[in-house]
Amino acid sequence: MNISLSAPDIGEREMDYVMQVLRSNQLSMGPWLEQFEKRFAAYIGTRYAIGVNSGTSALHLCVRALGIGAEDEVVTTSFSFVASVNCLLYEGALPALVDIDPKSLNLDPSAVRDFLRMQCSRSADGRLVDQKTNRVVKAILPVHVFGLPCAMDELMDIAREYQLQLLEDSCEAIGAEFGGRRAGSFGDAGVFAFYPNKQMTTGEGGMITTNDPRIAELCRSMRNQGRDTDGAWLRHVRLGYNYRLSELQAALGVAQLERIDSLLSSRADVARRYSEMLSRQPQLVLPESDPGSKRSWFVYVVKFLGDSPSAVRDHVRACLREKNIATQVYFTPIHHQPFFRQCCPGPVPSLPNTDLAADQCLALPFHGRLRKSEIEYVCESLTAAMEAQPRVDSKPVRVLETRAVGI
Ligand SMILES: *Cc1c(COP(=O)(O)O)cnc(C)c1O
Repeated sequence: MNISLSAPDIGEREMDYVMQVLRSNQLSMGPWLEQFEKRFAAYIGTRYAIGVNSGTSALHLCVRALGIGAEDEVVTTSFSFVASVNCLLYEGALPALVDIDPKSLNLDPSAVRDFLRMQCSRSADGRLVDQKTNRVVKAILPVHVFGLPCAMDELMDIAREYQLQLLEDSCEAIGAEFGGRRAGSFGDAGVFAFYPNKQMTTGEGGMITTNDPRIAELCRSMRNQGRDTDGAWLRHVRLGYNYRLSELQAALGVAQLERIDSLLSSRADVARRYSEMLSRQPQLVLPESDPGSKRSWFVYVVKFLGDSPSAVRDHVRACLREKNIATQVYFTPIHHQPFFRQCCPGPVPSLPNTDLAADQCLALPFHGRLRKSEIEYVCESLTAAMEAQPRVDSKPVRVLETRAVGI
């Protein structure tokens, strides 16, 4: 067996719709994009949806539409895919990285509150200023990590109290719900991504969701070279980009969205199988659930316990690789990425829960078409690898050192 980390689920309907585009004369900015956006907005529960060519582009346009720029700072998480911080750096803004909740692995609302209360204060003109950096705090950018929604009630309260904008990175969470509302419908804007490892794919692609007509119009214009919405093709009223989603991609998106419920439920079935088969492993923590929310299964990530979780994890990874089972370490925190030091000068933030999660987590092969026999093979190989674990005699030096100096 050879088991990949992820795989798209493409059927006859996808091929049929894409062929319809190929047989038409319109390969960009046509009826499929319009239909995809309309249906996507209805699915998430927002007034508007704007299709773009990636999740990263969606984030970038939202940052611009929210007026976040060179003097500004945004409160966000380091335990994420790099794009949720890069979108700030594109505009010269910086992330104010606060720690995560160790159970949900999402931005911890009490850490956000502590940062705002202890490190920020109002200037005479009413702006909220980070006293350490002198930057204006403009927004909170929560990421629904691994498809589990953040504590949106608390984050919305904080945003309201401190008059901050809220941008939801929902790239891993299509269909996830918090208190009965879908991820991507809480903030000033939400963003989604359709890379092939996501729950639904367009090859490459992304979407912005919002209820704000001004944000919707700005994003529509900026994705299309800053054109005015009056349709004059060579009139550019603002700095824009080519972040358009083609008709081929939009057709793929419509087909995937039409069967999103079944795409999500087959992933939930695979997750349930994993959890059943791994439930008797005392050294593993399986993905958490939360009674107030519904996860959309993006990846299946287990946590290793013990004094030296990353050593055990790396040993298990190597054993699984020998058996042709792909795994991935999600995430190496953004503040440990090699490029981050150049972009973000100043002291390295101390984020103990983020660092611990980074040492513990491993993503197993996961997609909706993973067969029962394949899941069994992964679980048996994982169990065997844990039993064959070499004794770790030396103290976990690396872990202790990095925590002590707060790297
Ligand atoms: C996938 C992802 C993105 C970016 O999506 P792309 O389409 O690859 O640009 C952004 N944020 C998070 C959390 C993601 O998982």
